[in-house]
Amino acid sequence: MKNHKLHTDTILATGLGFIDEQHLGVIPGIFPSTTFERSADNTYPQGRVYTRDHNPNYQQPEQVLTALEKGAAAMLFSSGMSAATCVFMSLKPGDHVVVPKIIYWSLRNWLLTFAKDWGIETSFVENGNLDSVNAAVIPGKTKLLWLETPANPTWEIEDIAVWAEIAHRIGARLAVDNTIASPILCNPLTLGADLVMHSATKYLNGHSDVLAGALVCRQDDRHWQKMRGIRAAGGAVLGPFEAWLLMRGMRTLALRVKQSSANALAFAKAFENHPAIKQVLYPGLISFKGHQLAKKQMQGGFGGMLSIRIKQGETAAIKVAANLQIIKRATSLGGVESLVEHRASVEGPNTPCPTDLLRISIGIENVDDLIADLQQALSSLDVS
Ligand code: PLP
Repeated sequence: MKNHKLHTDTILATGLGFIDEQHLGVIPGIFPSTTFERSADNTYPQGRVYTRDHNPNYQQPEQVLTALEKGAAAMLFSSGMSAATCVFMSLKPGDHVVVPKIIYWSLRNWLLTFAKDWGIETSFVENGNLDSVNAAVIPGKTKLLWLETPANPTWEIEDIAVWAEIAHRIGARLAVDNTIASPILCNPLTLGADLVMHSATKYLNGHSDVLAGALVCRQDDRHWQKMRGIRAAGGAVLGPFEAWLLMRGMRTLALRVKQSSANALAFAKAFENHPAIKQVLYPGLISFKGHQLAKKQMQGGFGGMLSIRIKQGETAAIKVAANLQIIKRATSLGGVESLVEHRASVEGPNTPCPTDLLRISIGIENVDDLIADLQQALSSLDVS
């Protein structure tokens, strides 16, 4: 339709209209071929040479992601970590990056170990503190600012527009890990970010059955082409079957994110004043420090991730997790099923995560069942 801009839910449900052109199936097929035939005139008529970055199954999810994030181009990766590390690998030894202290722990560890050994210097700044970002940047040396909002696992909110201004003032780029909000609730590129990263393993796929990552850029420039080269040479790409499954999962992204967000808000409110709980960390609660900023920066909800802190401490928190019956004890997030995790056990001794904290990924179940489950698990604690 001319002059009609499609809504996000339509882009997702229709998958931008891709079909199986050979059989006219409404869903494109899976293309396992690793290599593509060269023409007699020595050219590749479709531009596809080898599957390491040319598999036809990347095209639809990459175009859908580009449209969702309102960007210029997207790239799929074999995991969220391979997408994130590609951005840092595009820097040179001696380059400096600024990152909040609380971000996905595996990336923080990678920056403290591998990236450091490669000569990339990282300044970790206080979450939600723009003064410390301003103080950390070094004009001429800082090449990348990286943030995650809401930040896993305590959900601090960063002001993307202000971070982008700080980055651009010194000629650096801003990259945002948008895994937790998903493109349904936040579009960092429209707020000034240069790159968006996703662990597509989480909300984008949504069914806990595909490991995948993605980058989306605001401008298809030399830096983006450099990262395309890193992906093609390193080969951290998805298999065609995983790319196809990811696309199938993404078709229901809008519905799933809206349902998880509504469930999480109801769940957070139900436990905000529970006698066994010290604090519920959820950006949708008015009592949450970053609530006003989250309200400004996110549209349609605050996401499906929250954490609870148990008054009686670590042992009691682990006991509560053990007593849950519907909410499963497992790492990861963003699936249709709810998951709980004692984060400090996973993140190890140097974690900034409080030891009394349980992270909960709220799924799309009936929220009354989830509330009943935590209520019965908390009843095992003596809070009299
Ligand atoms: N970013 C966030 C916010 C995450 O929660 C995760 C994984 O839990 C990642 C990145 C890494 O993604 P992956 O597990 O797909 O490598």
